[in-house]
Amino acid sequence: MSTYFVIAEHLQGALTETTFETLGAARALADATGGEVVGVLLGHGVQDMAGQLAAADRVLVADHPALEHFTPEAYNAALEPLLQEHQPRLTLFQNTAIGMDLAAYLAARLNWPLIAYCNGLRAEDGAIVTTSQIYGGKVFAECRLPEGPGMVTVLAGAFPAEAGQAGDAPRVETVSVSLDGLRTRFEELHEPEAEDVDITKADVIVAVGRGIQSEDNLELAEELAQALGGVVAASRPIVDAGWLPRMRQVGKSGQKVKPKLYLALGISGAPEHVEGMKDSELIIAVNTDPNAPIFDVAHYGVVADLFDVAEALLERLED
Ligand SMILES: Cc1cc2nc3c(=O)[nH]c(=O)nc-3n(C[C@H](O)[C@H](O)[C@H](O)COP(=O)(O)OP(=O)(O)OC[C@H]3O[C@@H](n4cnc5c(N)ncnc54)[C@H](O)[C@@H]3O)c2cc1C
Repeated sequence: MSTYFVIAEHLQGALTETTFETLGAARALADATGGEVVGVLLGHGVQDMAGQLAAADRVLVADHPALEHFTPEAYNAALEPLLQEHQPRLTLFQNTAIGMDLAAYLAARLNWPLIAYCNGLRAEDGAIVTTSQIYGGKVFAECRLPEGPGMVTVLAGAFPAEAGQAGDAPRVETVSVSLDGLRTRFEELHEPEAEDVDITKADVIVAVGRGIQSEDNLELAEELAQALGGVVAASRPIVDAGWLPRMRQVGKSGQKVKPKLYLALGISGAPEHVEGMKDSELIIAVNTDPNAPIFDVAHYGVVADLFDVAEALLERLED
């Protein structure tokens, strides 16, 4: 029977959304192949959390003071012998900073294949077929893992979290870990500064790029966003210039957003920007350059000066 290990992530006493998404993906694979899903939970005092991994058949809990907070050294030291012993058909990590950290190290240590950036997983003729979103979402790569053991990292948002939350309480088993001689120590968690708005939750985003020209002109974007009931976000150069806080940046190294309306003003549409907004329900782009790549992802495009368009829109909205 194939065994699918899912490495759970948690922060401040709560399992992450991506843990449930990954668990749901493993459940679907196990159901298709008659396999078993095993949640793996590392931490300290985390027994209660284990029961929440409902889509798992069983959960292995490694409880140790050194695992209370994530450190690559302690987590890897706990996981390596566990994976070595069980040889799961597939170990699923999340494509997060933590998941990528662990998966890369463990794949090298165990000499197991690792496929990263997965947003599709299916069983086919005994193989596991994965789809990975690479080059900033421009290319989809299909890979086959003909036989186990193997590893994947699963992209956030690729699978519904509900599938990981559904099911009966899993069987919980405690595993012992030996973590002597660790050299890495967790010191302190730095949380991002409280922000006035969370752009990932906004239905309407007015996003500005270098075409906005100066910090003073942001006021116009702010007025337009208010009139539309939305918030202002930006491309990276605007944030790098210090005109808006980092939490307002959309893109590869910023936030992924999916609003009902994404109004892009003076944004060229570089792949790193598009990666963060291409799944918006309605994209309207305003750019003076008819060849700007933003028009490739926009549902509606306006080749015009953004200031003319913003002012005309404001006038209409204020009528
Ligand atoms: C590793 C890496 C990560 C990155 N991560 C991100 C990221 O997360 N987010 C991100 O945004 N970028 C990111 N970038 C940067 C990205 O490559 C681009 O440089 C950036 O997105 C360009 O921003 P922009 O479109 O505002 O500026 P530009 O590319 O300079 O485009 C400005 C646009 O405004 C138009 N314009 C000028 N004046 C007007 C006007 N008056 N009216 C209308 N249109 C006008 C121009 O025609 C032009 O198309 C990253 C780059 C790297 C290498």
